[in-house]
Amino acid sequence: MILIKNLTDALSWVKKQKQSGQKIGFVPTMGALHKGHISLVNQSVEENDITIVSIFVNPTQFNNQEDLKKYPRTEEADKEILKNSSCDAIFFPKVEDIYPEGEKSEKFSFDGIENQMEGKFRPGHFDGVATVVKRFFEIIQPDKAYFGEKDFQQLRIIQELVKKLNLNLKIVPVEIMREADGLAMSSRNTRLTKEMREEAPKIYQILSETKEFIKSNSIEATKNFVQEKFNQTKLDLEYFEIADEQTLAPASEKENHINLRGFIAVFAGEIRLIDNVSLN
Ligand code: AMP
Repeated sequence: MILIKNLTDALSWVKKQKQSGQKIGFVPTMGALHKGHISLVNQSVEENDITIVSIFVNPTQFNNQEDLKKYPRTEEADKEILKNSSCDAIFFPKVEDIYPEGEKSEKFSFDGIENQMEGKFRPGHFDGVATVVKRFFEIIQPDKAYFGEKDFQQLRIIQELVKKLNLNLKIVPVEIMREADGLAMSSRNTRLTKEMREEAPKIYQILSETKEFIKSNSIEATKNFVQEKFNQTKLDLEYFEIADEQTLAPASEKENHINLRGFIAVFAGEIRLIDNVSLN
């Protein structure tokens, strides 16, 4: 496995792979790697000739400077984890490699998908995400890129980005990896206090109960059910939304031809966690 630490080396690595006809699989991450990230890597290894993982804590997607400052950075451990995987290269770019003209996001519009849920509660977040992913795609020129359903709205945004820019690459969604107690794996989980780590599995427990509840209840009643369930925990519900998987527009009624998904953001103490579950 090779370590690529700057743009020039990344571009020449990509050129070499392209010249020898290698199909490139790409897994963008912000590091603090866990098994969720590795499931993306493993899928890429299976489906491509060569797999490259990027590790870059993207400043422009943080709407909260404190969150950016405290985001876990575990470079040495990440290298070890990837050495033990079948990944071929790690790209650790510098901020100026990604933002040669300064740390600014481009403005995007994705037919309203960007304004729902995370877009509402984290203004500017998806402009930052789309900017950095677009830049990575320019550099790496992958044949396939892997995104977790953990960040379902992000996955939909990236699918739209590829369509909009008419890029010749396939976005591959990967299922959410969970801890044994159901908590969705996340780099932010390491920042939970002991008390909140014990409380956090209730997010998925409640989502699983919701999947049953909605079968015989309306959308409105389901939303109330979720709020009431969280009132009985130490977790603070920021939002629970039931939306069309395609448009991410909030649903007010159940319709047969629409795939619905429940999306949630919760504060466990100071740590903001997100999760989602299919409701079909
Ligand atoms: P991050 O480092 O948090 O930006 O995540 C990098 C990629 O890994 C994104 O595509 C995430 O959706 C994905 N990912 C993060 N956590 C999980 C998980 N628990 N299961 C599956 N994919 C995940």
